[in-house]
Amino acid sequence: MGAPDLEELVEGVTAGRRAAVARAITLVESTRDDHRRQARELLRRLPAPEVPAVRVGISGVPGVGKSTFIEALGTLLTAQGHRVGVLAVDPSSTRTGGSVLGDKTRMGRLAADEHAYVRPSPTAGTLGGVARATQQAMLVLEAAGYDVVLVETVGVGQSEVTVAGMVDTFCFLTLARTGDQLQGIKKGILELADVIAVNKADGDREAEASSAARELSGALRLVHHLDARDGAPWVPSVLTCSALEERGVEEVWAQVLAHREHLGRDGLRSKRAVQQLEFTWALVRDELARRLTASPGVARVRGEVRDAVLAGAMPATEAADLLLAAYDETPRAAPGDAAGAPGPEAPAS
Ligand code: GDP
Repeated sequence: MGAPDLEELVEGVTAGRRAAVARAITLVESTRDDHRRQARELLRRLPAPEVPAVRVGISGVPGVGKSTFIEALGTLLTAQGHRVGVLAVDPSSTRTGGSVLGDKTRMGRLAADEHAYVRPSPTAGTLGGVARATQQAMLVLEAAGYDVVLVETVGVGQSEVTVAGMVDTFCFLTLARTGDQLQGIKKGILELADVIAVNKADGDREAEASSAARELSGALRLVHHLDARDGAPWVPSVLTCSALEERGVEEVWAQVLAHREHLGRDGLRSKRAVQQLEFTWALVRDELARRLTASPGVARVRGEVRDAVLAGAMPATEAADLLLAAYDETPRAAPGDAAGAPGPEAPAS
């Protein structure tokens, strides 16, 4: 993509043209080096919105009703005059190529809404890579005038933490569980969540959902009491909703806005700043891991080290030191220099 193309892309995204938004997101999802450079340049040129967009994470186990909820919420918001972007971070798609979040035809109504943009999750790369793509896609959407961005993720391990690290407010959807089942909800998620909703509170499950919400609310008070840091802590409320019948969804949104209000303008700014710093290091770690894997020096010794460790002939600590030394020395060691002495920036000749 040449410079005039990039200019056209900036213009198209800023004007909110869907085709340009789609192309821009494809660009930021690409892992090719030249694309990465172009993506950086694109993001530099895209204007930030005057009012920060509302970034919301939506998490929960497969089947809890995330898509149904996002469709209901998104439709509600576009009817109120918002422009809604939907992104997904789906670790399963990065591992298997198949997606737990599924193809986004599930959000058919929202996808067809001219005030909404639903992007299927990127299907390749590490979680770090997907996070990088999603962060940048978020900026593209915001530059295109989407004032609400919903990031969907499956309630599986690290992806929740990743998404919580890129949104202003993190919503956790759950199903009616009480007593022992409550233990099944990881404490970690209760600490991450800013808003919690017990979904499928409809039909004969309504009463069950309400009592589950009360119980969860009690459990939360404990978590947040122990965790209360500075000032008045935000204790998430536990609501009930039916995404299918579109009841309670507006109340969940009201809590998202209340959380935003609680953060305040400065709080939001500093939360985002800290997120950026953490993300910076996540990107560095990701890149280092990639370089480690690609390092010729490591490749040279890895088989040997592996065999020695498996045979019980080398302790892990020593093996790790050896691999790291092989990594450190690679770029500076001149070919044929068996000792791999880390000399001054010797040109590889
Ligand atoms: P996801 O995997 O979390 O995205 O879940 P989906 O949105 O695909 O929903 C999974 C199933 O639960 C679908 O059959 C939905 O129709 C159903 N579902 C979602 N929300 C509700 C709800 O509020 N009440 C009921 N009864 N079913 C729901």
